[in-house]
Amino acid sequence: MTEKILIAVAWPYANGFLHLGHIAGSELPADIFARYHRTRGDEVLMVSGSDQHGTPITLKAEEEGKTPAEIVARYHALHLDAWSKLGISYDLYTSTGTANHAAVTHDIFLTLLKKGFIYKSSMSQPYCPKCQRFLPDRYVEGVCPHCHFADARGDQCDQCGKPLNAAELVAPRCRTCATAPEFRESEHFFLKLTAFQQQLEAWITKQTHWRQNVLNFSLGYLAEGLKDRPITRDINWGITVPVPGFESKRIYVWFEAVIGYLSASKEWAAGTPNPEAWRTFWQGEARSYYFLGKDNIVFHSIIWPAMLMGYGGLNLPADVPANEFLTFESKKGSKSHNWAVWVPDYTARYDPDPLRYFAAANMPETSDADFSWHEFIRRNNDELVATYGNLVNRVLTFAYRNFEGLVPQPGEIDVVDRSLLERSEGTLDAVGRLLHDCHFREAIRTAMSLAQEANRFLDEKSPWKTIKIDRGTAATALWVAIAVISDLKTMLYPFLPFSSQKVHEYLGFSGTVEAGGWKTDRPVPGQKMVSPQPLFAKIDEKLAEEETARLGQGAP
Ligand SMILES: [Zn+2]
Ligand SMILES: [Zn+2]
Repeated sequence: MTEKILIAVAWPYANGFLHLGHIAGSELPADIFARYHRTRGDEVLMVSGSDQHGTPITLKAEEEGKTPAEIVARYHALHLDAWSKLGISYDLYTSTGTANHAAVTHDIFLTLLKKGFIYKSSMSQPYCPKCQRFLPDRYVEGVCPHCHFADARGDQCDQCGKPLNAAELVAPRCRTCATAPEFRESEHFFLKLTAFQQQLEAWITKQTHWRQNVLNFSLGYLAEGLKDRPITRDINWGITVPVPGFESKRIYVWFEAVIGYLSASKEWAAGTPNPEAWRTFWQGEARSYYFLGKDNIVFHSIIWPAMLMGYGGLNLPADVPANEFLTFESKKGSKSHNWAVWVPDYTARYDPDPLRYFAAANMPETSDADFSWHEFIRRNNDELVATYGNLVNRVLTFAYRNFEGLVPQPGEIDVVDRSLLERSEGTLDAVGRLLHDCHFREAIRTAMSLAQEANRFLDEKSPWKTIKIDRGTAATALWVAIAVISDLKTMLYPFLPFSSQKVHEYLGFSGTVEAGGWKTDRPVPGQKMVSPQPLFAKIDEKLAEEETARLGQGAP
């Protein structure tokens, strides 16, 4: 039975380059999941976009002496380029700057207001007497009241991940001039999260299939007791507040960014023959999966579900497979210290599949994982090239040269052949089940173990030797190896889409791997092959030193 799957990926801010942590943490697992489900024949909608609002954008604009609009235009274009070069296959990658997104946000705001889940209240807001303005979230810094981190921001603590209000910070200071702010009264709207405490507890307790880190964080957060949160700010960049008297204020970015999943789905549907098609992915039996980093869990497991519960009629998340962080050479990635590997730097020098392989095999699913250039090159050379690339290359090249460019005709299948063919089919099923449950790292390891098994089979059968004495035996061994390679290109397709499509064509198949379906697809003996080229290239180990030295150098 086909499934209806919404794949919602956390919206990156359009205020800087993306780094490999973004890719390994949310973009790549989402893309793997989407490609798997599309190959299965499921209906998939994968959406996200650039977050154009909030203080990360205005701060960057002030730093560079540009307008927020100039900043977001530049980085949105770079994000789109990154998806195209890395093969992140969005059905729609939009931005929060569209009229559609503003309209959908206003609808949710006004509906929650009418139902009493949003209310107006006065709150004390930090005001910098020197800068003569209110200081929204990131414009204030101070000590985290929970973990005592010295540089917590007025919206969230980066060390313990807890969302904060500026008033909770110990020893607050203006980010621009370091003056201690004074607190002045300002009228704002609040989301009544307290109204959803019990409903959320009952719902999350039932999500036993969620990752342990996501469950623990969410239940721990609920156990502390929810607090109502302000959803408007004294700022002039963002979505307007659809209520008279609030013209000088804007909707807080955390409230509207999560609405982006819905507005992007509606924007996608508006571009199809059926503008109501978004309902397929938000109502009924559709399942929604949210891909994000651990610093974003609370917004997707608690706050967005509360908004959906209040609004009514739309599905709650089926799963929130949040990842931990990717560190770089064992140090936490940092934009301000330029400590990360930036996507434009990577894509300028290397192919997408080796990165996709590394990030999937080393995905930070249950704990932080590390990127180092030595390890990246080792995995490329020892695993991708030596185990999988060489298997494909030596079998296809040998078959192509010795059998007139046709898939060889096998003779009698013996017990060793049959055992490998059965293992291949079983592995395709196993990888599918693992992907279905969002176990990406185990899925790619399982697929690679089949490639190792095929190499052992070839060492035993040695068709390169037997061909001189018994052409039929060699043909059988090659056909079996080709059949396994055909399964491998399917099960590795979600991870390595570029090279899988090449293998598909070398084997003489037409169309796409995706259209071929998640099933064993044995090349027919006599099928015309295409002259194969090596799938991957070895990377010189000396480059590791050079690349490592670039970390932290210059402006990203
Ligand atoms: Zn903290
Ligand atoms: Zn100031």
